[in-house]
Amino acid sequence: MSEHILEADYVIVGAGAVGMAMADTLTAETTAKVVIVDRRAKPGGHWNEAYPFVRLHGPSVTYGVNSMPLGSGRIDEVGLNAGLNELASGAEICAYYDRVMQQRLLPSGRVTWLPLHDLDEDGVAISLVHGQRRRLVARSASRASGPATKATAPGAARARRRSSSPATMVV
Ligand SMILES: Cc1cc2nc3c(=O)[nH]c(=O)nc-3n(C[C@H](O)[C@H](O)[C@H](O)COP(=O)(O)OP(=O)(O)OC[C@H]3O[C@@H](n4cnc5c(N)ncnc54)[C@H](O)[C@@H]3O)c2cc1C
Repeated sequence: MSEHILEADYVIVGAGAVGMAMADTLTAETTAKVVIVDRRAKPGGHWNEAYPFVRLHGPSVTYGVNSMPLGSGRIDEVGLNAGLNELASGAEICAYYDRVMQQRLLPSGRVTWLPLHDLDEDGVAISLVHGQRRRLVARSASRASGPATKATAPGAARARRRSSSPATMVV
């Protein structure tokens, strides 16, 4: 199988809450080009496979990416959470991250999204659909103009450097 090379300033492994927060901050606050790779078909990470009854433990307003709020700030009127800020369901969270990808990240023109791709130990993204191999190369972090670890919600993104690809984000 032939192998192509895909270059960007940052490679983010995983379109879960942390990878999406990182991509959102990089897109909003720097001029960096970003590749996001995930073996799942949609952004949202583990929420894509959550049981249907599962919801956030904390208020929706405290979750998600900086550039787009999750939920409407509603106060629940019924149930165990009555009187408190709404708690998004798994389905709401997945729909939200899909909007972030479609309405924020991809329209920036600086994000390449590789769903259904497994990133192996050598930095090669392998399509789970047709087996195509793309070597993901992260350029020097110094070329990006903003702080790479400023992504916040729902927790500060962990940036771990790999000796073979200095700007690769593993989240
Ligand atoms: C029921 C429940 C309620 C929660 N409530 C809250 C809350 O209220 N507030 C809060 O802050 N947190 C909450 N959390 C925790 C929070 O949701 C998780 O910590 C967060 O979603 C984790 O995001 P993540 O991006 O680190 O990981 P994940 O969601 O696991 O995403 C990682 C992604 O990386 C991909 N990936 C990994 N390695 C590779 C590879 N080699 N190649 C391709 N893809 C790869 C995976 O496919 C996955 O999609 C809750 C969790 C649960 C289960």
